[in-house]
Amino acid sequence: MFYNIIDSERRAGDSATVTNPRTNEALWDVPVAHETQLNFAVEAARVSFKSWKLLSVGERQRYLLKLADELEQRRNEIHAPLAGETGKSVTETFHVVSIRSVAHKLLRTSSQTWRLTILWPTSDLMVSSQSLPDKVDYENDKLKIVSTHHPIGVVGAICPWNFPLLLAVAKVSAALVMGNCIIVKPSPSTPCATLKFAELATSVLPRGVLQALNGDDDIGRLISIHPGIDKISFTGSIATGKKVAESAAKTLKRVTLELGGNDGSIICPDVDVKTVAAKVAAGVFLHSGQMCVGTKRVYVHEAIFQEFRDSFVEAVKQIKIDLSGDQSPMFSPIQNEVQYKVVKDAIADCKKNNYTLLCGGSTDEHPGFFIAPVVVDQPPHDSQIVQMEQFGPVIPLMKWSAEDELISNVNGTDTGLGGCVWAEDVAKAERIARRLEVGTVWINSAEDPNPHGYLSGWKQSGIGGEWGRQGLMSYSHTQIIQLRK
Ligand code: NAD
Repeated sequence: MFYNIIDSERRAGDSATVTNPRTNEALWDVPVAHETQLNFAVEAARVSFKSWKLLSVGERQRYLLKLADELEQRRNEIHAPLAGETGKSVTETFHVVSIRSVAHKLLRTSSQTWRLTILWPTSDLMVSSQSLPDKVDYENDKLKIVSTHHPIGVVGAICPWNFPLLLAVAKVSAALVMGNCIIVKPSPSTPCATLKFAELATSVLPRGVLQALNGDDDIGRLISIHPGIDKISFTGSIATGKKVAESAAKTLKRVTLELGGNDGSIICPDVDVKTVAAKVAAGVFLHSGQMCVGTKRVYVHEAIFQEFRDSFVEAVKQIKIDLSGDQSPMFSPIQNEVQYKVVKDAIADCKKNNYTLLCGGSTDEHPGFFIAPVVVDQPPHDSQIVQMEQFGPVIPLMKWSAEDELISNVNGTDTGLGGCVWAEDVAKAERIARRLEVGTVWINSAEDPNPHGYLSGWKQSGIGGEWGRQGLMSYSHTQIIQLRK
């Protein structure tokens, strides 16, 4: 059973059904919140904020560390909902990407404040007893200017379906450690693990600090315009991000937008081709390409193109579809039917334009939303598959020779979330990285967001960012005290 969590109580609502993407069958009934429940949630959060904000950072960290321990101990209760609703395999959900990272994220975010050591396991963690230290920005014999940081108030967190728990918990831990209260709205496609997490958190957190409301897009809109909510942290598509910005402008809420991307991976000619091809393939097809910062385009230097293409396709052909979810570690079905259609249409467009598909593309022999991984050989720069955020297991491989043209092609979209550069010559890789108009560049690694690093989008991939010190700061308001001596 799943419940909305309001004022630390379980609340039923109208009912909707979550679908299993492995089978396209009904999975569980979930509650759907309505506007009255949102109003109760805001009221509860506002009441809790009065006392939560008065705790020291150290006290709030201790609550979050306790929550991380609780999550580790009771992870069986979260695992089934998370695997069921996302279609992720046991390995992916349990060990590799999600629950483990969620516990890490709670620990790291909650311990990240300024000077604290960030370590795993819990016993090694130093917990601060101070509040966030002020910073002296300027001082002379007549004047002292000090910046000091206040919590913002009540945060509305609106989340997508690809990494539902991880992204929700990142917002929860950052908001809470900085002294805010929070209302989380998961995607209606994947609400179960988030609702279970919030339910579990009621045994640890003070009343009303964290609420979770499942709901459709309209509840998202109502959260964005609600006058009792002070900040929106939104992760989702660019189209919805624009609507959220518009709604939030009505009350001039603080807004963080983490949006879509079309990340390029650049392969330089000096790499160990076989090894790098396998690593790039593993990154591209993680969760079947449904990763915001996942590579959506691969640019391979012409000197190694043929060898790389062969090794890449060989690695991709090793990826097996495992209907049970017990065997295949990292490859999943598409999470929902709408996205399944988007990816199938993208493949159809490649076929219509006679681009060469080097492998994959079949969708029919599986009951759920599985698509066997597709590699597209050198489609043109202006083709749909190169320009779109396909968010699925279809990847175009392109050839490059001149660096300036490469950079212009990689930067030639409206988005700028992330990118990768692979090279033995690290100085050259760094030079290329600094020319990319993206929030994060990974050198010699597939995309792997780390809680210590600020995650943000350039161009239409977002406004502001999360994680890292700067991400934490976005959950506070900086006040300046000017003291005339
Ligand atoms: P989406 O934009 O369709 O939905 C995201 C959330 O917004 C859902 O909870 C939805 O119910 C809600 N919503 C819909 N309409 C709304 C409105 N008018 N007002 C307020 N809320 C509304 O995105 P999705 O399909 O769930 O997720 C996939 C997208 O998310 C991809 O584009 C992906 O790149 C992006 N994403 C970005 C990051 C990042 O960190 N930049 C991380 C993960 C996913």
